[in-house]
Amino acid sequence: MSAKDLNNITPTSWLGTSHINAALSLLRKKVDQLIIGGLFNVEYGCFAEFPPVNTPKWLQIIHNGMDHWVLAARGFFFDDNNDLASLEERPTVYIFDSLQHMKANPLVVACCASLLYTKEKELQISFMYNQRQNNGYDCGVFAIAFAMALIEGNNPCHMTFDTRQLRKHLKNCLKSGEMTSFPQQSHRGPTDRTICFSTNVEVFCTCRRPARFSRSKGMEKSEEMAECVDCNEWFHRDCVKIPANVFKTKHIQWRCPACV
Ligand SMILES: [Zn+2]
Ligand SMILES: [Zn+2]
Repeated sequence: MSAKDLNNITPTSWLGTSHINAALSLLRKKVDQLIIGGLFNVEYGCFAEFPPVNTPKWLQIIHNGMDHWVLAARGFFFDDNNDLASLEERPTVYIFDSLQHMKANPLVVACCASLLYTKEKELQISFMYNQRQNNGYDCGVFAIAFAMALIEGNNPCHMTFDTRQLRKHLKNCLKSGEMTSFPQQSHRGPTDRTICFSTNVEVFCTCRRPARFSRSKGMEKSEEMAECVDCNEWFHRDCVKIPANVFKTKHIQWRCPACV
């Protein structure tokens, strides 16, 4: 991380890709990557093309396409809540979002799907009840602080970070080349809520991602997806190179690469 990039972290700046990637590389050093995977360069997320992760646990900071960072986590047991342990048997990804958006962002969901790469027909996204940022620019530091907490075996839902110290702490970590726990204000103690809400998302195709999405329309099967007449699975046009005429006439019997 260059001195210029470090100086760009001001008390009110939004953390950019280079800051998040520098923090991710320090977080990778803290984990055994055979146990906790992910923590990839965030640029894979631009087109929801993160590599599939094959470790039972993983963490990933994801950009939602609208100037906001969130943390996605998979495989962590939040042992104060038995329900979560049972949820873990399903393909569930937990989202720690410091803005507490009560809505699944299509790009974030598609990124989670690319990381999870499940054989199942749907995945579950659960939004966590974590500390909320009280300004318009702390999402990046919160995503990093949440990730560090999980790596250290803590549940971010039970933590209240000292927001005035977060940036100073991050800068010190980036300078020293070692990530350490972010300062907390106090222990929040067991809360009755850990999950705000959960939602299921259908995944398709060889890529195991949701239907194509547009920012205005959200997720939907459009002319950009076609159904195989044999296996009845839907595929993205670009993923399996579906010929243009399949989308022009309704009567074409198209078969996916596995069924041809
Ligand atoms: Zn696809
Ligand atoms: Zn097929």
